[in-house]
Amino acid sequence: MDSEMRGIVRGSEKIVNPLQESALHKKGLCDYVVNIASGCLHGCTFCYVPATPAIRTRKAILAEAGVEDPQMEWGNYLFTRDNIPSQLEDLIERKRNWKVTESGKGVVLLCSGTDPYQTKETALITRETVKILLRYKKRVRILTRSPLWIKDLDILCNENVTVGMSLPHFEDELSKVVEPYSPSPSARYNAMIKGAKAGCRLFVAAAPTPPNITLREFESYFQKISRLNPEVVFWEPINARGTNGKRMQKAGLKFVDLVMHEKSWANNFLEQWEIIERAAENTGFLSKLHIWPDKALRKFTDSSKVDYWIDRPTVERWI
Ligand code: SF4
Repeated sequence: MDSEMRGIVRGSEKIVNPLQESALHKKGLCDYVVNIASGCLHGCTFCYVPATPAIRTRKAILAEAGVEDPQMEWGNYLFTRDNIPSQLEDLIERKRNWKVTESGKGVVLLCSGTDPYQTKETALITRETVKILLRYKKRVRILTRSPLWIKDLDILCNENVTVGMSLPHFEDELSKVVEPYSPSPSARYNAMIKGAKAGCRLFVAAAPTPPNITLREFESYFQKISRLNPEVVFWEPINARGTNGKRMQKAGLKFVDLVMHEKSWANNFLEQWEIIERAAENTGFLSKLHIWPDKALRKFTDSSKVDYWIDRPTVERWI
């Protein structure tokens, strides 16, 4: 469905502080985030961003802009933050201290609450933002579902940049239901092949995976991504959190019943965790597999198994 038929609400907004400190060092990702837009046209059914304060606290502003239900309309609105590059340049120039945690490594992530390469407009803001960060010798992590980043290989193939794509599986038909407006997993994979051939540093987010992946399927997943030679593979399964459970049910995803309640979600998470670790071991990927366990799992298993991964540095090498 094209964006006109979807009735997308578009606009732009000014942002005062584009560089936000982030707690995503707990996942080994970064110490800062830059979100180059509010809203995301990929509209993934499992996305928990609309349940975060970044969207929940802006209900009145979004209503004024024409978004009646920011939760259920997720995927149908996008407000780009065009002034980020100029604001960022000023801010970095004045900034005296840079946060560098052991697991976040001072990295800046684009993005945690939207997709940096979802449209040509966001790609342009992203490109300018990355150029500024690199000029100031900052480390950058790109996380996207869109192959558009390939057009920026000239700046992204850099020792201070790692590019990752969310690749929960390789089922293009399933993706049309789960991530209805995202480029297909095949398109993402092909983009990463190009990035690998160009010599870019890469990572894969095997996230979030559906709750019913078999050992054989995880093994063939690792065999396929071995062509990309990613430095690290992050993993977490689908979690029904906030309103995403309702959105997945509305999309007709039967498997969501397995993760709608905390206990069944936890049991499923722990089962899938065991399976993916076995698959990674069988395919030589265990040292690159980085688990993102939810702290709520502590109630359901040996808590040291969970704590091992919280705030753990990845195996990536930054210069
Ligand atoms: S691409 Fe990321 S931010 Fe956008 S809808 Fe999907 S999960 Fe959410």
